Amino acid sequence: MNSLGPGRILPLRLPRVCVAIWGTDAAEMFDKAEAVVRDNPLLEFRLDYLKQPASGIMRIRRFAEIHPEAILIGTCRRAANGGKFRGKLKAQIDLLMKAADAGCQFVDLDIQSAEQLKTADFEKLRSRVGIVLSFHDFKATRNLDGTFRRMLAFPADYYKLVSTANTLADNVEMMKFLQNQSQRHSLIGLCMGEQGIISRVLGVRAGSVFTFGAANPGDETAPGQVTARSLRDIYRIEQIDQATRVYGVAGDPISHSMSPLIMNTAFRRESVNAVCIALHARKVDDLMTCVEDIPIHGLAVTMPYKQEILKYLENTDPLTAKVGACNTVVRSQDGKLFGFNTDIAGVLRPLEQRLSLPGAKVLVLGAGGAAKAAVFGLKERGAEVYVMNRTTAKGQKLARRAHARLLKRKELKKASFDLIINATPVGMGNGKQSLLAEPEINARYVMDMVYDPVETRLLKLAKERGAHTISGLEMFTNQAARQFEIWTGKPAPIIEMQSAVTNALAAVAAAETARNGTGKTRKKKSRK
Ligand code: NAP
Repeated sequence: MNSLGPGRILPLRLPRVCVAIWGTDAAEMFDKAEAVVRDNPLLEFRLDYLKQPASGIMRIRRFAEIHPEAILIGTCRRAANGGKFRGKLKAQIDLLMKAADAGCQFVDLDIQSAEQLKTADFEKLRSRVGIVLSFHDFKATRNLDGTFRRMLAFPADYYKLVSTANTLADNVEMMKFLQNQSQRHSLIGLCMGEQGIISRVLGVRAGSVFTFGAANPGDETAPGQVTARSLRDIYRIEQIDQATRVYGVAGDPISHSMSPLIMNTAFRRESVNAVCIALHARKVDDLMTCVEDIPIHGLAVTMPYKQEILKYLENTDPLTAKVGACNTVVRSQDGKLFGFNTDIAGVLRPLEQRLSLPGAKVLVLGAGGAAKAAVFGLKERGAEVYVMNRTTAKGQKLARRAHARLLKRKELKKASFDLIINATPVGMGNGKQSLLAEPEINARYVMDMVYDPVETRLLKLAKERGAHTISGLEMFTNQAARQFEIWTGKPAPIIEMQSAVTNALAAVAAAETARNGTGKTRKKKSRK
């Protein structure tokens, strides 16, 4: 290390998360820094985001004095190189020098600027402050070795390579690069973009000294950045090591999935050294490359891959084969992949706690993947099952295959059931729609698979009719609990899992209400 600023020492091991802090003015930037520094001593100040970057220097000095424990990186990237600073190279270097004098132990210098600097000027900067030499590729992950050779022309304390993941396999490329080079060099490596989350979480295990996190949701300084709090609390990044087992939640889209939260909550509660990451797979082949190369020990599979995944599996249990859809994959010790459908347990477990299923008269609304899990699972338990679906032919096909009966809408008012299950997305989002009108709800129990909102319009109407209601949240928690059991062989901490999702849904709803005043304009988005 060259210079640490007046009286400042570095810890032996840097924290694994550096919080990138920005603000349109210095007050905003340093308010954010004050709010996070206690939990995040490693901070990057993005001077280039300030309308007047020089206004940040005095504040850095004061901040460094008040927080001698903080490790500070000053960054003032020019617009041409992916930053926001409009000044010339000389002005950029002046600001970095001043940031160093004010107390930053490191400055970020992009490779393009390093290449334009005279050797003497580069040496002068390096004699004053630690250098994080950076390279950003905002389009792709390509030629990492070639870029790194170019960077090695400059002595630096850390080499930071950031690319963009267009596929999940791009993360594998980044991690292989980190594994190969991190023995000899101090590296920071990650992929940007929604598909880059694997490298943001697992890069530290592959050899990245640290990764970057946002101060708050909405404060991201790069696409795909997650909050520092999520990296620490959900992904437990400080604990990730070579023995950490990696699990994934795979689908397209996937960003709104609650599965990483619920599974990581269970891992933490049961002290399982494992992490679950959202995998935005645009193609199933891409997903399977990651499953093999990382390797991934298990998958929670969601739309649209529940059927397509079957051809990659060694075997499935008989009921999953009947349903023809798999939402859980586990890797056995010999590397083979086995599939299960835990949506079946997700439906059956909450029901069996309440009513006797053999002989129970049950109506399932829908004929998609979730409906199939319910119909076959209920039939297996000896229930008398009826299917009603918007597209009659699909409903008929399911009824025939499962030896259930098809019900027509016009027959509904006269019929009564022990249980009605909504297995369609109707009711999701703004909570105003119900597939059934009040007079059509003739049942002792009504279950809705939709869990956002937790109390759907259908469940409200059912309550008014005197029925007992079961929310989709119970199904979601129970299918995840079964997934946890299959992955780990341990009983699932179901209470903690359910409260993690309940709290997260409440936080999302509160944030949306705060954003639009009423929360009425929520879009329909599947969270599974
Ligand atoms: P899917 O395979 O796409 O099937 C959707 C079904 O809903 C189809 O039968 C479809 O009828 C019907 N449908 C869609 N829009 C409709 C509308 N406007 N009116 C009437 N019927 C409509 O989906 P899926 O995987 O079965 O999932 C269904 C729902 O269950 C989703 O909301 C999903 O989030 C939820 N789910 C929840 C859990 C949980 O753990 N709580 C687990 C799995 C699924 P057509 O055949 O006519 O298209």
